[in-house]
Amino acid sequence: MPTDVLKNIYNVVYQATVKHKNKVAVILAVIVTAFILISYHTSFLERLELLTLDYRFHVRPGQVRSSDVVFIDMAEDSINVIGRWPWPRKWHAALIKILSSYKPKAIAFDVVFSETQDQMDDTALDEAIRQSGVVYMPSVYDIDIEHSPTFYRGEGVEAIHEPLAIFKNVIKGTGHINAVPDSDGILRRAPPVIALNGHITYQLGIRVGADLLGVSPDGISFDPGRHNLSLRLVNGKIENVPLDRNNQLIINWVGKWGKDFKHYSYIDVIKSYAAIQEGDKPIIDLNEFRDKICIIGLTAIGLIDIKPIPIDSTYPAVGTNAMVISSILTGNFVREAPEWVNILILIIISMVATTALCNLRLLSGVIIAVAAIILYMLFSIILFIVFNISVITFYPMLAVAFAYVLTASYTQLLQSIERANLFKQATRDGLTQLYNVRHFNLLFEAEFRNVSTLKFRTLSIIMCDIDNFKRVNDTYGHQAGDTILREIAAVIQSKCRHMDVAGRYGGEEFIIMLSGANAVDAAALADKIRIAVSEKKFKFGDAVYSTTISLGVAEYYKEKVKNELIERADKALYESKHTGKNKVSVSPIEIN
Ligand code: GH3
Ligand code: MG
Ligand code: MG
Repeated sequence: MPTDVLKNIYNVVYQATVKHKNKVAVILAVIVTAFILISYHTSFLERLELLTLDYRFHVRPGQVRSSDVVFIDMAEDSINVIGRWPWPRKWHAALIKILSSYKPKAIAFDVVFSETQDQMDDTALDEAIRQSGVVYMPSVYDIDIEHSPTFYRGEGVEAIHEPLAIFKNVIKGTGHINAVPDSDGILRRAPPVIALNGHITYQLGIRVGADLLGVSPDGISFDPGRHNLSLRLVNGKIENVPLDRNNQLIINWVGKWGKDFKHYSYIDVIKSYAAIQEGDKPIIDLNEFRDKICIIGLTAIGLIDIKPIPIDSTYPAVGTNAMVISSILTGNFVREAPEWVNILILIIISMVATTALCNLRLLSGVIIAVAAIILYMLFSIILFIVFNISVITFYPMLAVAFAYVLTASYTQLLQSIERANLFKQATRDGLTQLYNVRHFNLLFEAEFRNVSTLKFRTLSIIMCDIDNFKRVNDTYGHQAGDTILREIAAVIQSKCRHMDVAGRYGGEEFIIMLSGANAVDAAALADKIRIAVSEKKFKFGDAVYSTTISLGVAEYYKEKVKNELIERADKALYESKHTGKNKVSVSPIEIN
Protein backbone atom coordinates (compact mmCIF):
# COMPACT_ATOMS: atom_id res chain seq x y z
CA MET A 1 0.00 0.00 0.00
CA PRO A 2 1.42 3.42 -0.92
CA THR A 3 0.59 4.85 2.51
CA ASP A 4 2.70 2.10 4.09
CA VAL A 5 5.59 2.94 1.79
CA LEU A 6 5.23 6.60 2.72
CA LYS A 7 5.08 5.74 6.41
CA ASN A 8 8.25 3.70 6.06
CA ILE A 9 10.12 6.47 4.26
CA TYR A 10 8.86 8.88 6.89
CA ASN A 11 10.15 6.67 9.66
CA VAL A 12 13.52 6.08 8.02
CA VAL A 13 13.96 9.84 7.56
CA TYR A 14 12.84 10.42 11.12
CA GLN A 15 15.25 7.87 12.55
CA ALA A 16 18.06 9.29 10.44
CA THR A 17 17.37 12.88 11.51
CA VAL A 18 17.20 11.92 15.16
CA LYS A 19 20.40 9.91 14.97
CA HIS A 20 22.34 12.49 12.95
CA LYS A 21 21.03 15.68 14.48
CA ASN A 22 24.35 17.44 14.02
CA LYS A 23 24.59 16.47 10.40
CA VAL A 24 21.08 17.81 9.80
CA ALA A 25 22.13 21.12 11.38
CA VAL A 26 25.04 21.33 8.96
CA ILE A 27 22.82 20.52 5.99
CA LEU A 28 20.33 23.22 7.03
CA ALA A 29 23.22 25.67 7.49
CA VAL A 30 24.44 24.91 3.98
CA ILE A 31 20.93 25.45 2.60
CA VAL A 32 20.64 28.83 4.36
CA THR A 33 24.12 29.90 3.20
CA ALA A 34 23.45 28.88 -0.38
CA PHE A 35 20.11 30.68 -0.43
CA ILE A 36 21.61 33.86 1.00
CA LEU A 37 24.65 33.87 -1.28
CA ILE A 38 22.50 33.28 -4.33
CA SER A 39 20.05 36.03 -3.45
CA TYR A 40 22.96 38.38 -2.72
CA HIS A 41 24.59 37.48 -6.02
CA THR A 42 21.43 37.96 -8.07
CA SER A 43 20.73 41.30 -6.35
CA PHE A 44 17.15 40.07 -6.13
CA LEU A 45 16.52 41.97 -2.87
CA GLU A 46 18.94 44.80 -3.56
CA ARG A 47 16.29 47.42 -2.86
CA LEU A 48 15.89 46.23 0.70
CA GLU A 49 19.65 46.37 1.16
CA LEU A 50 19.58 49.94 -0.17
CA LEU A 51 16.82 50.87 2.27
CA THR A 52 19.05 49.80 5.14
CA LEU A 53 21.76 52.08 3.73
CA ASP A 54 19.24 54.93 3.65
CA TYR A 55 18.35 54.16 7.24
CA ARG A 56 22.00 54.36 8.25
CA PHE A 57 22.24 57.77 6.57
CA HIS A 58 19.13 58.82 8.51
CA VAL A 59 20.40 57.88 11.93
CA ARG A 60 23.90 59.22 11.30
CA PRO A 61 24.63 62.39 13.25
CA GLY A 62 26.02 65.54 11.59
CA GLN A 63 29.01 65.00 9.38
CA VAL A 64 32.25 66.76 8.75
CA ARG A 65 31.77 68.98 5.72
CA SER A 66 33.72 71.65 3.96
CA SER A 67 32.57 75.11 5.01
CA ASP A 68 34.19 76.41 1.84
CA VAL A 69 31.33 75.11 -0.27
CA VAL A 70 28.40 77.50 -0.77
CA PHE A 71 25.37 77.45 -3.03
CA ILE A 72 24.11 80.33 -5.07
CA ASP A 73 20.51 79.39 -5.83
CA MET A 74 18.66 80.51 -8.92
CA ALA A 75 15.27 80.24 -7.22
CA GLU A 76 11.83 81.87 -7.57
CA ASP A 77 12.96 85.17 -6.05
CA SER A 78 15.55 85.54 -8.80
CA ILE A 79 13.06 84.55 -11.50
CA ASN A 80 10.66 87.21 -10.19
CA VAL A 81 13.26 89.86 -10.88
CA ILE A 82 15.13 88.54 -13.90
CA GLY A 83 12.24 86.84 -15.71
CA ARG A 84 11.62 83.45 -17.19
CA TRP A 85 14.37 80.93 -17.58
CA PRO A 86 16.70 80.80 -19.51
CA TRP A 87 18.04 84.15 -18.45
CA PRO A 88 20.08 86.39 -20.72
CA ARG A 89 23.69 85.34 -20.15
CA LYS A 90 24.74 88.88 -19.31
CA TRP A 91 23.32 88.15 -15.86
CA HIS A 92 25.72 85.26 -15.40
CA ALA A 93 28.50 87.47 -16.71
CA ALA A 94 27.59 90.05 -14.07
CA LEU A 95 27.43 87.46 -11.31
CA ILE A 96 30.82 86.03 -12.25
CA LYS A 97 32.32 89.51 -12.26
CA ILE A 98 30.87 90.33 -8.85
CA LEU A 99 31.94 87.05 -7.26
CA SER A 100 35.38 87.17 -8.86
CA SER A 101 36.09 90.54 -7.35
CA TYR A 102 35.92 88.76 -3.96
CA LYS A 103 38.34 86.03 -5.06
CA PRO A 104 36.44 82.79 -4.64
CA LYS A 105 38.38 79.58 -5.16
CA ALA A 106 35.94 78.28 -7.74
CA ILE A 107 32.67 79.16 -9.43
CA ALA A 108 30.93 76.09 -10.73
CA PHE A 109 27.75 76.23 -12.76
CA ASP A 110 25.28 73.38 -12.70
CA VAL A 111 23.72 74.72 -15.87
CA VAL A 112 24.73 73.54 -19.33
CA PHE A 113 25.78 76.21 -21.81
CA SER A 114 25.82 74.12 -24.94
CA GLU A 115 23.77 76.31 -27.24
CA THR A 116 24.23 79.80 -28.58
CA GLN A 117 21.77 82.36 -27.23
CA ASP A 118 22.66 85.95 -27.85
CA GLN A 119 25.95 86.88 -29.49
CA MET A 120 26.50 89.97 -27.34
CA ASP A 121 25.63 88.18 -24.08
CA ASP A 122 27.80 85.20 -24.94
CA THR A 123 30.70 87.52 -25.58
CA ALA A 124 30.11 89.23 -22.24
CA LEU A 125 30.01 85.86 -20.46
CA ASP A 126 33.14 84.70 -22.28
CA GLU A 127 34.88 87.89 -21.15
CA ALA A 128 33.76 87.44 -17.52
CA ILE A 129 34.90 83.82 -17.44
CA ARG A 130 38.26 84.72 -18.91
CA GLN A 131 38.85 87.42 -16.30
CA SER A 132 37.69 85.22 -13.43
CA GLY A 133 39.85 82.20 -14.27
CA VAL A 134 38.03 79.96 -11.76
CA VAL A 135 34.80 79.20 -13.61
CA TYR A 136 33.67 75.60 -14.26
CA MET A 137 30.94 74.66 -16.68
CA PRO A 138 29.43 71.22 -16.84
CA SER A 139 28.83 68.75 -19.60
CA VAL A 140 25.89 66.44 -19.63
CA TYR A 141 25.58 63.12 -21.42
CA ASP A 142 22.63 61.40 -22.99
CA ILE A 143 22.81 58.06 -21.22
CA ASP A 144 20.86 54.87 -20.86
CA ILE A 145 20.49 54.44 -17.09
CA GLU A 146 20.41 50.66 -17.43
CA HIS A 147 24.13 50.71 -18.19
CA SER A 148 25.22 52.88 -15.27
CA PRO A 149 28.07 50.59 -14.10
CA THR A 150 29.69 50.72 -17.55
CA PHE A 151 29.46 54.39 -18.43
CA TYR A 152 33.20 54.61 -17.86
CA ARG A 153 33.66 52.23 -20.81
CA GLY A 154 31.26 54.26 -22.92
CA GLU A 155 28.53 51.61 -22.82
CA GLY A 156 25.09 53.18 -22.65
CA VAL A 157 26.51 56.63 -23.42
CA GLU A 158 24.98 58.19 -26.50
CA ALA A 159 25.90 61.86 -26.81
CA ILE A 160 27.53 64.71 -24.94
CA HIS A 161 26.36 68.29 -24.51
CA GLU A 162 29.46 70.31 -23.81
CA PRO A 163 29.88 74.03 -23.13
CA LEU A 164 30.07 76.10 -26.32
CA ALA A 165 33.57 76.31 -27.75
CA ILE A 166 33.94 79.98 -26.80
CA PHE A 167 33.30 79.06 -23.13
CA LYS A 168 35.17 75.77 -23.24
CA ASN A 169 38.33 77.61 -24.21
CA VAL A 170 38.23 79.93 -21.25
CA ILE A 171 36.75 77.93 -18.37
CA LYS A 172 39.02 76.35 -15.81
CA GLY A 173 37.50 72.97 -16.29
CA THR A 174 34.48 70.87 -16.97
CA GLY A 175 32.91 67.80 -15.48
CA HIS A 176 29.70 65.88 -16.05
CA ILE A 177 26.62 66.45 -13.93
CA ASN A 178 24.66 63.31 -14.80
CA ALA A 179 22.64 62.17 -11.83
CA VAL A 180 21.92 58.44 -12.02
CA PRO A 181 19.34 57.28 -9.50
CA ASP A 182 19.08 53.64 -8.42
CA SER A 183 16.27 51.45 -9.71
CA ASP A 184 14.02 52.65 -6.88
CA GLY A 185 14.44 56.25 -8.06
CA ILE A 186 16.61 57.28 -5.13
CA LEU A 187 19.83 59.14 -5.88
CA ARG A 188 22.63 57.54 -3.91
CA ARG A 189 25.70 57.57 -6.13
CA ALA A 190 27.33 59.27 -9.04
CA PRO A 191 29.26 57.76 -11.94
CA PRO A 192 32.79 59.08 -11.35
CA VAL A 193 33.70 58.82 -15.02
CA ILE A 194 31.69 58.86 -18.23
CA ALA A 195 33.36 58.07 -21.53
CA LEU A 196 32.31 58.72 -25.11
CA ASN A 197 34.42 57.89 -28.14
CA GLY A 198 37.51 57.42 -26.03
CA HIS A 199 37.12 60.82 -24.39
CA ILE A 200 36.44 60.70 -20.65
CA THR A 201 34.86 63.24 -18.34
CA TYR A 202 35.06 63.13 -14.55
CA GLN A 203 32.14 64.09 -12.40
CA LEU A 204 32.10 67.88 -11.96
CA GLY A 205 32.59 67.68 -8.19
CA ILE A 206 35.59 65.38 -8.63
CA ARG A 207 37.07 67.73 -11.22
CA VAL A 208 36.63 70.83 -9.04
CA GLY A 209 37.73 69.03 -5.84
CA ALA A 210 40.84 67.66 -7.52
CA ASP A 211 41.79 71.10 -8.87
CA LEU A 212 41.38 72.61 -5.41
CA LEU A 213 43.73 70.00 -3.99
CA GLY A 214 46.23 70.91 -6.67
CA VAL A 215 45.88 67.69 -8.61
CA SER A 216 47.12 68.08 -12.17
CA PRO A 217 44.74 66.97 -14.98
CA ASP A 218 46.74 63.76 -15.44
CA GLY A 219 46.95 63.25 -11.68
CA ILE A 220 43.53 61.61 -11.53
CA SER A 221 43.54 57.91 -12.22
CA PHE A 222 40.54 55.69 -12.29
CA ASP A 223 41.07 52.03 -11.49
CA PRO A 224 37.82 50.11 -12.01
CA GLY A 225 39.54 46.83 -11.16
CA ARG A 226 40.30 48.06 -7.64
CA HIS A 227 37.11 50.14 -7.37
CA ASN A 228 39.17 53.20 -6.71
CA LEU A 229 39.89 56.61 -8.09
CA SER A 230 43.16 58.15 -6.94
CA LEU A 231 44.18 61.78 -6.88
CA ARG A 232 47.92 62.56 -6.94
CA LEU A 233 48.34 65.72 -4.89
CA VAL A 234 51.03 68.36 -5.55
CA ASN A 235 53.12 67.06 -2.66
CA GLY A 236 53.07 63.61 -4.23
CA LYS A 237 50.61 62.19 -1.72
CA ILE A 238 47.69 60.15 -3.01
CA GLU A 239 44.10 60.65 -1.95
CA ASN A 240 41.96 57.65 -2.70
CA VAL A 241 38.34 58.14 -3.61
CA PRO A 242 36.66 54.80 -2.79
CA LEU A 243 34.10 53.49 -5.27
CA ASP A 244 31.51 50.82 -4.74
CA ARG A 245 31.55 47.38 -6.36
CA ASN A 246 29.88 48.86 -9.46
CA ASN A 247 32.52 51.57 -9.61
CA GLN A 248 30.08 54.23 -8.54
CA LEU A 249 30.90 56.94 -6.05
CA ILE A 250 28.59 56.62 -3.04
CA ILE A 251 27.64 60.20 -2.28
CA ASN A 252 28.28 61.14 1.31
CA TRP A 253 25.09 63.10 1.98
CA VAL A 254 25.89 65.38 4.88
CA GLY A 255 22.55 67.12 5.25
CA LYS A 256 19.16 67.89 3.77
CA TRP A 257 18.83 70.63 1.19
CA GLY A 258 19.28 73.96 2.98
CA LYS A 259 20.95 72.25 5.95
CA ASP A 260 23.88 70.99 3.93
CA PHE A 261 25.85 74.06 2.98
CA LYS A 262 25.30 77.78 3.08
CA HIS A 263 22.80 79.04 0.52
CA TYR A 264 22.66 82.49 -1.06
CA SER A 265 20.18 83.88 -3.52
CA TYR A 266 21.52 84.67 -7.00
CA ILE A 267 19.59 87.91 -7.23
CA ASP A 268 20.61 88.90 -3.69
CA VAL A 269 24.27 88.68 -4.70
CA ILE A 270 23.61 91.06 -7.57
CA LYS A 271 21.42 93.36 -5.44
CA SER A 272 24.07 93.43 -2.73
CA TYR A 273 26.68 94.48 -5.23
CA ALA A 274 24.39 97.24 -6.51
CA ALA A 275 23.72 98.35 -2.94
CA ILE A 276 27.43 98.59 -2.22
CA GLN A 277 27.91 100.67 -5.38
CA GLU A 278 25.24 103.08 -4.17
CA GLY A 279 26.63 103.19 -0.67
CA ASP A 280 23.73 101.25 0.85
CA LYS A 281 23.88 98.30 3.23
CA PRO A 282 24.08 95.05 1.19
CA ILE A 283 21.80 92.04 1.89
CA ILE A 284 24.80 89.73 1.78
CA ASP A 285 28.27 90.58 2.94
CA LEU A 286 29.99 89.71 -0.32
CA ASN A 287 33.26 89.16 1.52
CA GLU A 288 31.74 85.85 2.51
CA PHE A 289 32.59 84.57 -0.96
CA ARG A 290 36.30 84.99 -0.45
CA ASP A 291 38.04 81.62 -0.88
CA LYS A 292 34.72 79.90 -1.29
CA ILE A 293 33.63 77.34 -3.84
CA CYS A 294 30.43 78.78 -5.27
CA ILE A 295 28.07 76.30 -6.83
CA ILE A 296 25.46 77.98 -8.97
CA GLY A 297 22.41 75.96 -9.76
CA LEU A 298 18.76 76.23 -10.62
CA THR A 299 16.56 75.50 -7.66
CA ALA A 300 13.27 77.01 -8.81
CA ILE A 301 10.57 74.38 -8.60
CA GLY A 302 9.43 73.17 -11.98
CA LEU A 303 12.71 73.95 -13.64
CA ILE A 304 14.99 71.57 -11.89
CA ASP A 305 15.97 68.06 -11.44
CA ILE A 306 14.60 67.12 -8.01
CA LYS A 307 15.48 63.67 -6.75
CA PRO A 308 14.89 61.81 -3.53
CA ILE A 309 18.13 61.07 -1.70
CA PRO A 310 18.53 58.81 1.35
CA ILE A 311 18.00 61.66 3.79
CA ASP A 312 15.73 64.00 1.84
CA SER A 313 12.71 63.20 -0.31
CA THR A 314 13.13 66.27 -2.51
CA TYR A 315 16.70 67.22 -3.15
CA PRO A 316 17.88 69.31 -6.10
CA ALA A 317 20.42 67.21 -7.98
CA VAL A 318 22.79 70.19 -8.13
CA GLY A 319 23.65 69.42 -4.51
CA THR A 320 25.47 66.28 -5.61
CA ASN A 321 28.40 68.39 -6.80
CA ALA A 322 28.69 70.12 -3.44
CA MET A 323 28.64 66.79 -1.60
CA VAL A 324 31.36 65.39 -3.84
CA ILE A 325 33.58 68.46 -3.55
CA SER A 326 33.13 68.51 0.23
CA SER A 327 34.04 64.81 0.44
CA ILE A 328 37.18 65.33 -1.60
CA LEU A 329 38.27 68.35 0.40
CA THR A 330 37.66 66.67 3.77
CA GLY A 331 38.58 63.13 2.75
CA ASN A 332 35.26 62.04 4.22
CA PHE A 333 33.84 59.34 1.95
CA VAL A 334 31.33 56.54 2.36
CA ARG A 335 33.23 53.36 1.72
CA GLU A 336 31.68 50.06 0.79
CA ALA A 337 33.09 47.04 2.60
CA PRO A 338 35.05 44.86 0.16
CA GLU A 339 33.08 42.11 -1.56
CA TRP A 340 35.01 39.32 0.16
CA VAL A 341 34.21 40.80 3.58
CA ASN A 342 30.49 40.88 2.74
CA ILE A 343 30.57 37.30 1.51
CA LEU A 344 32.50 36.15 4.56
CA ILE A 345 29.95 37.85 6.84
CA LEU A 346 27.11 36.15 4.98
CA ILE A 347 28.71 32.71 5.25
CA ILE A 348 29.59 33.06 8.94
CA ILE A 349 26.21 34.46 9.95
CA SER A 350 24.24 31.88 7.96
CA MET A 351 26.28 28.99 9.38
CA VAL A 352 26.39 30.17 12.99
CA ALA A 353 22.74 31.24 13.10
CA THR A 354 21.45 27.98 11.64
CA THR A 355 23.54 25.67 13.82
CA ALA A 356 22.77 27.70 16.95
CA LEU A 357 19.02 27.91 16.24
CA CYS A 358 18.85 24.18 15.50
CA ASN A 359 19.40 23.45 19.18
CA LEU A 360 16.95 25.99 20.57
CA ARG A 361 13.30 25.77 21.45
CA LEU A 362 10.82 27.82 19.47
CA LEU A 363 10.52 30.72 21.90
CA SER A 364 14.16 31.03 22.82
CA GLY A 365 14.87 30.71 19.11
CA VAL A 366 12.70 33.74 18.34
CA ILE A 367 14.37 35.74 21.09
CA ILE A 368 17.87 34.81 19.97
CA ALA A 369 17.06 35.43 16.29
CA VAL A 370 15.51 38.84 16.96
CA ALA A 371 18.41 39.76 19.24
CA ALA A 372 20.89 38.68 16.57
CA ILE A 373 19.11 40.78 13.94
CA ILE A 374 19.07 43.84 16.19
CA LEU A 375 22.70 43.38 17.18
CA TYR A 376 23.78 43.06 13.58
CA MET A 377 21.84 46.18 12.61
CA LEU A 378 23.56 48.02 15.45
CA PHE A 379 26.94 46.73 14.32
CA SER A 380 26.24 47.95 10.80
CA ILE A 381 25.04 51.35 12.02
CA ILE A 382 28.06 51.83 14.27
CA LEU A 383 30.41 50.87 11.46
CA PHE A 384 28.70 53.45 9.29
CA ILE A 385 28.65 56.22 11.87
CA VAL A 386 32.16 55.73 13.17
CA PHE A 387 34.07 54.65 10.08
CA ASN A 388 31.72 55.62 7.22
CA ILE A 389 31.87 52.02 6.11
CA SER A 390 28.81 50.53 4.51
CA VAL A 391 28.77 46.83 5.21
CA ILE A 392 26.19 44.44 3.86
CA THR A 393 23.19 44.71 6.20
CA PHE A 394 19.92 43.38 4.89
CA TYR A 395 21.15 39.99 3.69
CA PRO A 396 22.75 38.95 7.01
CA MET A 397 19.50 39.86 8.81
CA LEU A 398 17.60 37.87 6.19
CA ALA A 399 20.00 34.98 6.82
CA VAL A 400 19.11 34.94 10.52
CA ALA A 401 15.38 35.13 9.78
CA PHE A 402 15.60 32.40 7.18
CA ALA A 403 17.71 30.24 9.49
CA TYR A 404 15.04 30.65 12.14
CA VAL A 405 12.18 29.72 9.81
CA LEU A 406 14.03 26.70 8.50
CA THR A 407 15.25 25.39 11.86
CA ALA A 408 11.89 26.09 13.53
CA SER A 409 10.04 24.18 10.81
CA TYR A 410 12.53 21.37 11.17
CA THR A 411 12.13 21.15 14.95
CA GLN A 412 8.36 21.41 14.56
CA LEU A 413 8.39 18.55 12.10
CA LEU A 414 10.55 16.43 14.41
CA GLN A 415 8.23 17.17 17.30
CA SER A 416 5.11 16.32 15.37
CA ILE A 417 6.66 13.02 14.27
CA GLU A 418 7.66 12.35 17.87
CA ARG A 419 4.15 13.14 19.07
CA ALA A 420 2.64 10.87 16.43
CA ASN A 421 4.99 8.08 17.50
CA LEU A 422 4.19 8.59 21.15
CA PHE A 423 0.49 8.51 20.41
CA LYS A 424 0.96 5.31 18.47
CA GLN A 425 2.93 3.76 21.30
CA ALA A 426 0.26 4.71 23.79
CA THR A 427 -2.70 3.45 21.79
CA ARG A 428 -1.45 0.42 19.85
CA ASP A 429 -0.49 -3.04 20.90
CA GLY A 430 3.21 -3.57 20.31
CA LEU A 431 2.93 -7.07 18.83
CA THR A 432 -0.05 -6.80 16.50
CA GLN A 433 -0.25 -3.01 15.94
CA LEU A 434 -4.01 -3.25 16.57
CA TYR A 435 -5.48 -0.89 19.18
CA ASN A 436 -4.77 -1.90 22.75
CA VAL A 437 -7.68 -2.65 25.08
CA ARG A 438 -7.52 0.70 26.80
CA HIS A 439 -7.74 2.71 23.61
CA PHE A 440 -10.28 0.35 22.08
CA ASN A 441 -12.48 0.85 25.12
CA LEU A 442 -12.22 4.61 24.79
CA LEU A 443 -13.31 4.52 21.16
CA PHE A 444 -15.98 1.95 21.92
CA GLU A 445 -17.38 3.95 24.79
CA ALA A 446 -17.70 7.09 22.67
CA GLU A 447 -19.41 5.18 19.88
CA PHE A 448 -21.65 3.31 22.31
CA ARG A 449 -22.78 6.62 23.81
CA ASN A 450 -23.60 7.92 20.30
CA VAL A 451 -25.60 4.85 19.39
CA SER A 452 -27.49 4.69 22.69
CA THR A 453 -28.54 8.35 22.38
CA LEU A 454 -29.14 8.51 18.62
CA LYS A 455 -31.83 5.88 18.12
CA PHE A 456 -31.45 5.39 14.36
CA ARG A 457 -27.79 4.38 14.48
CA THR A 458 -26.59 0.83 15.04
CA LEU A 459 -23.40 -0.87 16.08
CA SER A 460 -22.04 -4.41 16.14
CA ILE A 461 -19.21 -6.16 17.91
CA ILE A 462 -17.21 -9.17 16.78
CA MET A 463 -15.16 -11.16 19.29
CA CYS A 464 -12.50 -13.54 17.96
CA ASP A 465 -10.44 -16.22 19.68
CA ILE A 466 -7.82 -18.42 18.02
CA ASP A 467 -8.66 -22.06 18.19
CA ASN A 468 -6.35 -24.39 20.10
CA PHE A 469 -3.74 -21.76 20.36
CA LYS A 470 -2.00 -23.37 23.29
CA ARG A 471 -1.00 -26.16 20.95
CA VAL A 472 1.01 -23.78 18.77
CA ASN A 473 2.95 -22.48 21.70
CA ASP A 474 3.48 -25.97 23.01
CA THR A 475 4.56 -27.46 19.69
CA TYR A 476 6.43 -24.64 17.97
CA GLY A 477 7.28 -22.31 20.79
CA HIS A 478 6.20 -18.87 21.87
CA GLN A 479 7.90 -17.15 18.92
CA ALA A 480 5.75 -19.10 16.51
CA GLY A 481 2.69 -18.18 18.56
CA ASP A 482 3.65 -14.52 18.24
CA THR A 483 4.02 -14.83 14.50
CA ILE A 484 0.54 -16.30 14.22
CA LEU A 485 -0.89 -13.55 16.42
CA ARG A 486 0.75 -10.89 14.23
CA GLU A 487 -0.42 -12.45 10.98
CA ILE A 488 -3.97 -13.07 12.12
CA ALA A 489 -4.13 -9.46 13.33
CA ALA A 490 -3.01 -8.41 9.84
CA VAL A 491 -5.75 -10.56 8.26
CA ILE A 492 -8.37 -8.98 10.55
CA GLN A 493 -7.12 -5.48 9.75
CA SER A 494 -7.13 -6.13 6.03
CA LYS A 495 -10.73 -7.41 6.02
CA CYS A 496 -12.05 -4.50 8.10
CA ARG A 497 -13.53 -1.43 6.48
CA HIS A 498 -11.84 1.92 7.04
CA MET A 499 -14.24 2.93 9.82
CA ASP A 500 -14.10 -0.39 11.68
CA VAL A 501 -12.01 -0.44 14.83
CA ALA A 502 -10.01 -3.59 15.57
CA GLY A 503 -8.25 -4.19 18.87
CA ARG A 504 -6.28 -6.88 20.65
CA TYR A 505 -8.60 -7.68 23.52
CA GLY A 506 -6.55 -10.23 25.40
CA GLY A 507 -3.79 -12.79 24.83
CA GLU A 508 -5.09 -14.27 21.59
CA GLU A 509 -8.46 -12.59 21.53
CA PHE A 510 -9.42 -9.81 19.17
CA ILE A 511 -12.38 -7.47 19.11
CA ILE A 512 -13.84 -5.47 16.25
CA MET A 513 -16.29 -2.61 16.53
CA LEU A 514 -18.39 -2.00 13.41
CA SER A 515 -20.24 1.26 13.61
CA GLY A 516 -23.35 1.45 11.48
CA ALA A 517 -23.31 -2.32 10.83
CA ASN A 518 -26.13 -4.68 11.85
CA ALA A 519 -25.65 -8.30 12.90
CA VAL A 520 -26.03 -9.58 9.34
CA ASP A 521 -23.27 -7.29 8.00
CA ALA A 522 -21.06 -8.07 10.99
CA ALA A 523 -21.57 -11.82 10.59
CA ALA A 524 -20.66 -11.52 6.91
CA LEU A 525 -17.40 -9.78 7.80
CA ALA A 526 -16.74 -12.26 10.60
CA ASP A 527 -17.12 -15.10 8.16
CA LYS A 528 -14.76 -13.47 5.68
CA ILE A 529 -12.17 -13.26 8.41
CA ARG A 530 -12.78 -16.85 9.47
CA ILE A 531 -12.32 -18.14 5.90
CA ALA A 532 -9.23 -16.00 5.30
CA VAL A 533 -7.59 -17.29 8.49
CA SER A 534 -8.47 -20.89 7.76
CA GLU A 535 -6.98 -20.64 4.29
CA LYS A 536 -3.79 -19.01 5.48
CA LYS A 537 -0.55 -20.98 5.69
CA PHE A 538 1.66 -19.90 8.58
CA LYS A 539 5.33 -20.68 8.12
CA PHE A 540 7.94 -20.87 10.81
CA GLY A 541 11.22 -22.31 9.62
CA ASP A 542 10.37 -25.39 7.58
CA ALA A 543 7.06 -25.93 9.29
CA VAL A 544 3.80 -24.93 7.66
CA TYR A 545 0.86 -24.59 9.95
CA SER A 546 -2.83 -23.90 9.52
CA THR A 547 -5.21 -22.74 12.15
CA THR A 548 -8.72 -21.49 12.59
CA ILE A 549 -10.55 -18.94 14.67
CA SER A 550 -13.94 -18.82 16.28
CA LEU A 551 -16.02 -15.66 16.26
CA GLY A 552 -19.05 -14.27 18.05
CA VAL A 553 -21.21 -11.42 16.77
CA ALA A 554 -23.57 -9.15 18.69
CA GLU A 555 -25.60 -6.17 17.44
CA TYR A 556 -26.51 -3.33 19.76
CA TYR A 557 -29.97 -3.70 21.24
CA LYS A 558 -30.95 -1.24 23.92
CA GLU A 559 -28.04 -2.15 26.18
CA LYS A 560 -27.45 0.37 28.93
CA VAL A 561 -23.71 -0.22 29.33
CA LYS A 562 -21.20 -1.24 26.76
CA ASN A 563 -20.04 -4.30 28.66
CA GLU A 564 -23.44 -5.90 28.20
CA LEU A 565 -22.92 -5.81 24.45
CA ILE A 566 -19.42 -7.26 24.79
CA GLU A 567 -20.77 -9.99 27.03
CA ARG A 568 -23.30 -10.97 24.38
CA ALA A 569 -20.56 -11.15 21.73
CA ASP A 570 -18.51 -13.21 24.17
CA LYS A 571 -21.42 -15.55 24.66
CA ALA A 572 -21.76 -15.99 20.93
CA LEU A 573 -18.03 -16.75 20.74
CA TYR A 574 -18.46 -19.33 23.51
CA GLU A 575 -21.25 -20.83 21.45
CA SER A 576 -18.87 -21.15 18.44
CA LYS A 577 -16.21 -22.75 20.60
CA HIS A 578 -18.63 -25.26 21.98
CA THR A 579 -20.21 -26.23 18.72
CA GLY A 580 -17.02 -27.21 16.94
CA LYS A 581 -14.86 -24.05 16.57
CA ASN A 582 -13.93 -22.38 13.22
CA LYS A 583 -17.38 -20.86 13.29
CA VAL A 584 -19.30 -17.60 13.50
CA SER A 585 -22.21 -17.37 15.95
CA VAL A 586 -24.58 -14.45 16.26
CA SER A 587 -26.02 -13.46 19.58
CA PRO A 588 -29.84 -13.52 19.44
CA ILE A 589 -31.63 -10.29 20.24
CA GLU A 590 -33.69 -10.98 23.30
CA ILE A 591 -37.05 -9.33 23.09
CA ASN A 592 -38.60 -9.07 26.47
P1 GH3 B 1 -9.47 -22.57 22.59
O1 GH3 B 1 -9.61 -23.09 21.23
O2 GH3 B 1 -10.43 -23.10 23.54
O3 GH3 B 1 -9.42 -21.06 22.62
O4 GH3 B 1 -8.10 -23.11 23.05
P2 GH3 B 1 -6.80 -22.34 23.33
O5 GH3 B 1 -5.70 -23.23 23.35
O6 GH3 B 1 -6.67 -21.20 22.36
O7 GH3 B 1 -7.15 -21.82 24.74
P3 GH3 B 1 -6.99 -20.40 25.35
O8 GH3 B 1 -7.80 -19.43 24.53
O9 GH3 B 1 -7.33 -20.45 26.80
O10 GH3 B 1 -5.47 -20.20 25.17
C1 GH3 B 1 -4.80 -19.03 25.56
C2 GH3 B 1 -3.32 -19.22 25.30
O11 GH3 B 1 -2.80 -18.18 24.49
C3 GH3 B 1 -2.57 -19.17 26.59
C4 GH3 B 1 -1.27 -18.51 26.25
O12 GH3 B 1 -0.20 -19.40 26.31
C5 GH3 B 1 -1.44 -18.05 24.83
N1 GH3 B 1 -1.06 -16.71 24.72
C6 GH3 B 1 -1.67 -15.63 25.24
N2 GH3 B 1 -1.02 -14.47 24.87
C7 GH3 B 1 0.05 -14.86 24.09
C8 GH3 B 1 1.09 -14.19 23.42
O13 GH3 B 1 1.18 -12.95 23.46
N3 GH3 B 1 1.97 -14.91 22.70
C9 GH3 B 1 1.89 -16.25 22.60
N4 GH3 B 1 2.77 -16.92 21.90
N5 GH3 B 1 0.93 -16.94 23.27
C10 GH3 B 1 0.01 -16.26 23.98
MG1 MG C 1 -8.50 -17.44 24.71
MG1 MG D 1 -8.03 -19.78 22.13
